[in-house]
Formats: sequence, C-alpha cells, structure tokens
Amino acid sequence: MQVSWSELYWQRLTPLHAILWPASLLLELSYKLKRAAYRYGLFSTSRYPIPLILVDSITVNGIDKSALIVWLVNFLTSNGLRPAVISCSHPDGYQQLSAEVTSSSDIGQVGDTALFLAFHCNKYNCPVWIGQDNGTVGLDLLKIYPDRNILICDDGLHDYHLFRDLEILVLDTDKYYYGNGFTLPAGPLRDNLTRLNCADAVVLHEKNQQSFDQVDSSKIYYAKTSSSKFINFYHASDHFKKITTSSNRLHAIAGTKYAKSFFDQLSYLNLAVSKQSILNESQFTKRYIDSLNADIILIKEEDAVKCLSVIDDRFWILKESIVANTALQVMLLNKLREKFMDTKLLDILVCPLCKGSLVYKKIEKELICKRDRLAFPIRDGIPIMLEDGARLLPPEEEV
Ligand code: ZN
Repeated sequence: MQVSWSELYWQRLTPLHAILWPASLLLELSYKLKRAAYRYGLFSTSRYPIPLILVDSITVNGIDKSALIVWLVNFLTSNGLRPAVISCSHPDGYQQLSAEVTSSSDIGQVGDTALFLAFHCNKYNCPVWIGQDNGTVGLDLLKIYPDRNILICDDGLHDYHLFRDLEILVLDTDKYYYGNGFTLPAGPLRDNLTRLNCADAVVLHEKNQQSFDQVDSSKIYYAKTSSSKFINFYHASDHFKKITTSSNRLHAIAGTKYAKSFFDQLSYLNLAVSKQSILNESQFTKRYIDSLNADIILIKEEDAVKCLSVIDDRFWILKESIVANTALQVMLLNKLREKFMDTKLLDILVCPLCKGSLVYKKIEKELICKRDRLAFPIRDGIPIMLEDGARLLPPEEEV
C-alpha cells in the first residue's frame, strides 16, 4: 500500500519537526490572540437571524466530519427543523461568491466534500451552498430558501467573525490521523488540543473511547458507524456475500484520506483483496479503472462520488452512516430549545409552503399561516415546521 509523504511526516518526530515546532507555537499563539480579540470585542462578529451550528475538525484530515453533518441534517429534519448547509471548502480557483451545489454539480468545480454533502443532504430536502465567505453564502442561501430555520456550517474553526450558536468539533482519535500531536506545520493538528475545550461538544468515534487529559470530559460525546454494507452501484439488490464466496478477484481503491480506515475495515472483514491507495485523485479516470485486473472493485462512498462518471458494474460501494449517541442528541435539542425560546427568532420563521410570515400564538404554542390555514406546533420549545405535523385550521377557527 502506498502511503503519502504527508501521512509519514505527520506521524513522525524528526529534526525537521523540531525546527518547525516554534512555527507551530507561533500559529497557536496567533489563534489565541485572534480568539481573544473577538471575545473582548476588538473585532465585531456577524450573526445570522437563525441559529448556526458550526461543525469542524481539529485535524487537517478529519474523515468523520462530513458523515456527522449528514447525521445532523437527518436528526434536525426528523425533529421538525429545516436545516441548510453552508461551506467554504472548495477547490482552489473556485470563482463564484456563492452558489448551490447539487449531486449533479461538477466535482472539479465544487470539490468532493461539497458534492458528498449535497449527494446526501439533498435527500432530506436540505440545500448545500458553497462560496468564498460563510457570511455571504448563508445570506444568499436564505434569500432563495427563506423557510430554512437552522444553518450548519461545514468549516470555520478560526473564522470567529461568524457567530456560532453551537460549536461541534470532531476529533479522529486514530493515532494515524492524530499524528505526532503537534499543530501545523510540525503536525496534523489545526490548533492546540486545548482549543477543544472552547467547543460545546467534542465528538469522538465510539471505537476510540479513551480519556483525554486535554479535554473536559463533560464535553465529550460519542458517535458510531452504523450499517456498513457493500452495495453494487448498478444492482443494489445483489448480495455481496454471494459474490465474494466465488473465486472473484477483489481490488480495493481509496483516496489517501480514507485509505487507512477503509483498508483496516477490509482486513477486519477478512476479505482477500488487493489494495491500492490513490495518491492523486485525478487518477480516478476511466483508463485507470479499465486497467484494473479485477472482477470486483471495492470503494468507499466518499471516493465513489469522485468518479461517478467512470463507475462500471464491477463497483461495490461501502455505504456507511454515523449516528451520534443519545447524550449528544439531548444536548443539541436542549441548546436549540433555548435558542427558540427567543420570540424574536419565532417571529422570523416563515411558512414552509408559501414562505409567508406566521402568527405566533403563545398560549396555544402554535405558529399560524393564515394563507394556508395551517398551525405549526411548538413542541418542547422546538417549532415543528413540517406540513405533515401541522394542524389544518377548521373554517370556523379565527386567526
Ligand atoms: Zn403558508
């Protein structure tokens, strides 16, 4: 298996790391000063009219972040909220100030992270937008989707100009990603681990339960991978087990970001498979795929979105989803309840059908759309903005 230079570099301690260590300390100090400057009002923050949840990773190679965002979108939607995702992660040279990403967007333009998010979040009718600045992207999104009542920001660990109502940081605790424990440029961390204590929640993968001296244990929550299964890209009903019991040649490919975790998983499943990590993602070409001497090609879903146009029926895609534990779910709902206690926030919510304004009935705990004659309930402090969950007002009921 090929290992990229960066992975080797991040795991080691060499004289070069010692030379770069002062630069790491300097970077940590600059982030501390920047954070303090915003905290004490030297710089002003901008705030969205609706709550914003920031989800970011403390490592440069955070692999669970996107999957956690997909879970969050599912969780918020099933609790009656209407989320939207914004991000500034895009390939260099992306020109547009802000634009919507859908699963048919060009990966070369929008990048694999945004495409992966759109591919999954759109299933929950949740729009995904990217652009140059998270402040502008969100405002532009809200002009087109005024019914959205919560934003999820896919990055912005150090973008303190954007006020976050809730900050969730993801930590891949696998030593491989955690590396030598240093901040950039001497290690793979984007800030000192003590920065995690400033977040509302630090999410670790359940398989890596261990204590961290640097992090307040009350802030640690766990997520687990659920329902890992291989699905044939063209014949979703085929059973993977039946195929692998024959004498088929199996070949697994993965981009460097996911290679370690994917190949570890294959070893755990005891599959006789040749493995190849792709150092340069532009290698995911038809010519390369055709040249593979394999009957079955195994790939992670995050990598599959990079080569949708060249996938053939030999491809089996590992589908996985992440589920956060109940403690995180309870914490999220409690925090959001606090936010929606603010009647100003209830005033700006609009009807998901006609996008018109709503009348807040405090005693009835309902938000009424006069035009559609629908009453949206506020349950346990959370407005349920779903047509299915709304009460149709009888003709005799006055608004
Ligand atoms: Zn309406």
